[in-house]
Amino acid sequence: MDNLGVPQGPVLVTGGAGYIGSHTVRALERRGVPVIVLDNLSTGHRAAVKVPLEVVDLADRAALGRVFMAYRPTAVIHFAARAYVGESVGDPSRYYRENVINTWNLLEAMRAAACRDIVFSSTCATYGDPVRVPIDETHPQQPISPYGRTKLHMEHMMQDYGRAYGLRWAALRYFNAAGASRDGDLGEHHEPETHLIPLVLGVAQGKRPEILIFGDDYDTPDGTCIRDYVHVDDLADAHLRALSKLQQGSPELVCNLGTGNGFSVREVIEAARRITGHAIPARITPRRAGDPSRLVSGGTRARELLGWTPRTTAIEDIVSDAWRFHRAFPNGYSF
Ligand code: UDP
Repeated sequence: MDNLGVPQGPVLVTGGAGYIGSHTVRALERRGVPVIVLDNLSTGHRAAVKVPLEVVDLADRAALGRVFMAYRPTAVIHFAARAYVGESVGDPSRYYRENVINTWNLLEAMRAAACRDIVFSSTCATYGDPVRVPIDETHPQQPISPYGRTKLHMEHMMQDYGRAYGLRWAALRYFNAAGASRDGDLGEHHEPETHLIPLVLGVAQGKRPEILIFGDDYDTPDGTCIRDYVHVDDLADAHLRALSKLQQGSPELVCNLGTGNGFSVREVIEAARRITGHAIPARITPRRAGDPSRLVSGGTRARELLGWTPRTTAIEDIVSDAWRFHRAFPNGYSF
């Protein structure tokens, strides 16, 4: 089974300077797979990339074509996209352009270069408001934000290209990516930061006075939202397995990537208090628009198809890896 962790390269990783991308690049390198990163550095970080980096925007079709000609990648792992739900509501045009149209550009460049395998970042946001939890891959896909809709369009595009042109594709629907690499030199750094764990750790570092809890009147045991936090190194591992599986002949794969465990906002804050030894003041504010009360992955597809089981599932371990990165790089990659 474990040859599923070793894809054939060279692999082009779009968005490889970003959070999940950089961890996946590291995992490929570790297995000796040649990697090229393509990133416009709009949200990614040059310091997170230690392999050849092409600073190219996916909107630039000529430059994209040149990268394919120069490196002749046999496969693509596609992370480059915008991923802020709130921003997508205010500026859907940007999301359709950067997520959908730029993915079309990428698929066309792949066709022109006869590169047929792609693994890409999808999201549990394609399910929308869950009608049942845990959410397995057969759950209806009715996204409620432009962000979720653009990711669903991307899935559909790949499916159609698969049928018509023989593209082999994997859509990995992540739940909440979290944590940081065990080596401590890669982690999560977004500008602006909107994610719970880095914000909570920012309070412990004195960067913010308090963490705001977005609603404590949800239908959950402690009233705060429950999410499935999945370690970024486990996500990286799943991408390698998915790519190997395509390269072994699977035409398409759709898998959730989550642990199946849900933790509430309060439980995350409690874990961070224990790990950091900081009081981490918290204040309840009204709900954030569009937050479902529970998002937890169900199903066994990733295990069955990819032999993937997340190794780090305890919230303490996930938060503690994130904390190691935050302590080592208090300003993220802006040294
Ligand atoms: N959250 C919160 N305060 C914050 C940021 C997030 O209470 O400052 C909550 C948010 O409502 C959600 C959970 O934490 O229930 C995880 O949010 P995050 O933005 O990290 O990920 P999302 O679930 O939106 O992908």
